[in-house]
Amino acid sequence: MIDFSIPADLAAERDRVRQFVIDKIVPFERDPRLTAHGPNDELRQEMVELARAEKLLTIQAPVELGGRGLTHVEQAVLYEASGWSTLGPVAMNCAAPDEGNMFLLSKIANPEQTQRFLQPVIDGHQRSVFAMTEPGGAGSDPNQLATEAVFDGENFTINGRKWLITGADGAKTWIIMARLAANPHLPEGPTLFLCEGDTEGIVIDRIMNTMDRNYVGGHAVVNFENLVLPRESVLGETGQALRYAQLRLAPARLTHCMRWLGAAERAQSIAVDYAKTRTAFGKPIGEHQGVSFMLADNEIALHQCRLTIWHACWLMDQGHKARHESSIAKSYVSEELFKVTDRCVQVLGGIGISDETVVEMIFRDMRAFRLYDGPTEVHKYAIGRHLLRD
Ligand SMILES: Cc1cc2nc3c(=O)[nH]c(=O)nc-3n(C[C@H](O)[C@H](O)[C@H](O)COP(=O)(O)OP(=O)(O)OC[C@H]3O[C@@H](n4cnc5c(N)ncnc54)[C@H](O)[C@@H]3O)c2cc1C
Repeated sequence: MIDFSIPADLAAERDRVRQFVIDKIVPFERDPRLTAHGPNDELRQEMVELARAEKLLTIQAPVELGGRGLTHVEQAVLYEASGWSTLGPVAMNCAAPDEGNMFLLSKIANPEQTQRFLQPVIDGHQRSVFAMTEPGGAGSDPNQLATEAVFDGENFTINGRKWLITGADGAKTWIIMARLAANPHLPEGPTLFLCEGDTEGIVIDRIMNTMDRNYVGGHAVVNFENLVLPRESVLGETGQALRYAQLRLAPARLTHCMRWLGAAERAQSIAVDYAKTRTAFGKPIGEHQGVSFMLADNEIALHQCRLTIWHACWLMDQGHKARHESSIAKSYVSEELFKVTDRCVQVLGGIGISDETVVEMIFRDMRAFRLYDGPTEVHKYAIGRHLLRD
């Protein structure tokens, strides 16, 4: 059966989320606490409390940990609504990297780790980090992981350098990927470790200056300098980090698509309003075919993106891993939404590149979406390999 209808209660919740974001969160878009390195923690906490009051905080979390245990399709509908402002997902605690980290931890953390590292993030009191990418090491190809963990039978000592680590500054829950060196006690290879951000040996070198500013704390260069962690800090099993990263990435790349779809819709709504009211050469610019075609192309892309997302989500809700489909969705949606937002800038003329409207911020923030959780070319590479293999 093919059914694209949205149940009435889900549609009502979608509208409530959208209204919450419009009424309570959009005003923060001009708050000075939205810095060049993203919203600061004070702003985040204020917005989190607003979402908590509306019972819209971390609604995706498993029921036993205080959430609603949303299906992937339900997430698609509600995250799209939250994305109307790039701050909406931050307020509702469904933004990257926390959202993907919470998903991963809910799947593989043991009960003690869940209480210590996951629950405070779900409750909105703490933030989390996923530290994988390295200068000259792990990136598009995570097999190049260079950060090393040495096990002496009791403790791990980790050394290495990471960059582009979102939210590192101030995050309490850290998931670190390091290659466990050969040892007589445990299987070697890429391994995930859990620890607190203020553990001695974690050194934040600097926050990078990037063109986006929608993630709390920005993106950091981090050194691990003889970071000593106990045996219990292993997340899951040693040697399995790349498998776990895949577990995290397939849904996480889709949730990026959902949130950015909401942001692109916002840009489109602003462009449509402008096209209706701004005149040139004797009529509203929207009545010039050159403009109406740009808006029509946007509408077509938004619709196609939504269907692509929903299909991959539906497959995951049926128990499929949907790795191939999530790769298709991530590469397609990130490229198309970027084009949509670019056309919105064009429709707005000169003010399109100014902060007179939020379109300029959406455009800059969205650019990175074509890179993280797999650059478009890497997804196409995976899709191509899949085709040739089968
Ligand atoms: C805003 C932002 C936030 C991020 N947050 C985090 C985070 O919190 N934690 C974390 O660990 N990482 C994070 N990253 C890093 C991100 O995951 C990497 O940027 C991404 O995996 C690509 O790796 P790289 O930057 O090293 O690019 P490289 O590996 O250097 O690749 C450069 C380019 O080469 C091309 N390329 C590579 N492989 C292929 C191929 N097989 N076929 C064709 N072309 C190819 C692609 O065009 C790619 O963009 C973040 C990145 C950004 C931009």
